[in-house]
Amino acid sequence: SAMVEGVPAKVRERHAALSQDIDDYSYRYYMGAPIIPDADYDALMAELQELEQHYPSLITPDSPTQKVGAPISNEFAPVEHPERMESLDNAFSPEELLAWAQRVEGETEVGAYLCELKIDGLAVDLLYENGRLVRGATRGDGRVGEEITLNLRTIDAIPVHLDDSTEPVPELLEVRGEVFLPGQAFKELNARLAADGQDEFRNPRNAAAGSLRQKDPRVAATRPLTMLVHGVGAHRGVSFTHQSHAYELLRAWGLPVSDRYRVVGSLDEVRDYIDYYAEHRHEPDYEIDGVVVKVDEVSTQRRLGSTSRAPRWAIAYKYPPEEVTTKLVDIRVNV
Ligand code: NAD
Repeated sequence: SAMVEGVPAKVRERHAALSQDIDDYSYRYYMGAPIIPDADYDALMAELQELEQHYPSLITPDSPTQKVGAPISNEFAPVEHPERMESLDNAFSPEELLAWAQRVEGETEVGAYLCELKIDGLAVDLLYENGRLVRGATRGDGRVGEEITLNLRTIDAIPVHLDDSTEPVPELLEVRGEVFLPGQAFKELNARLAADGQDEFRNPRNAAAGSLRQKDPRVAATRPLTMLVHGVGAHRGVSFTHQSHAYELLRAWGLPVSDRYRVVGSLDEVRDYIDYYAEHRHEPDYEIDGVVVKVDEVSTQRRLGSTSRAPRWAIAYKYPPEEVTTKLVDIRVNV
């Protein structure tokens, strides 16, 4: 368009090359075989965002900055999510967290924040009809995911039938959560693969992604995957007042809810939670890459709404990557 023509050719070329690279890296990442470290990927994404900030005409719906996840593969059947699955915006510093909170509190009254751990696993979508698990899928591009019901059914933490003994189950319930491999299970899996002369996985996330994408559910069944839930999508026959209210109901229905989430009344307490887990990052037996902060009240969440790829009522506070440390050590060893 005429607008894009106003952008210097060099910038346009860099934007196109970056977008292409980011799409390629992200495809590999979601297949469970990334080819660059997350920190490098984040740096490319930051550069792309900066270009688009200077030249807003470069922002098109198919830019990696506007999309969720990666194009889906043709290995599994495509399924449309009843409600779109979003990503999360990031804060990399206390200043960025404060800027987010000021934006939110400038627009609406926030009664409470819910803080929880950001698990480095795979987002999945579970669909329950009258308490029965009818379908499970990956996030895909947020609208369409890949159907992996049989693999998800091998995970002990995922109930096939919801428990209706304390709370009646809703007619329809879409549950979102993170599938991951606990640290100990990851070590055991790699030891087993090595003993069989097979390739080991570089980290628990790749192991979880590789396991969920197995064509044969019997292989997935040998992988000790587990899950924690972190949200709901479409629902009928129930209503939730707060994120924490949803979690308590999900728990009553037998879904795996973490006992590490906290509801707090102030940004100072949010910071305390972030600081605590920055210091106790290895207390949970799974990898975390940050803390997710959410506005607890659902009506306030609705008022704040979403951008094209992420809710405006939540933010992921990212911890510095641990991967980089290892890399620096490697470089020193090589020198
Ligand atoms: P994201 O992982 O930063 O955040 C969104 C996701 O967080 C959600 O979809 C959800 O699955 C997950 N999540 C975990 N705990 C949660 C909780 N408590 N509440 C809500 N959600 C929770 O975003 P993304 O768009 O999936 O991917 C970006 C990330 O993936 C970046 O960290 C990036 O470095 C990495 N990545 C790396 C490569 C690579 O080549 N190394 C490629 C693509 C993406």
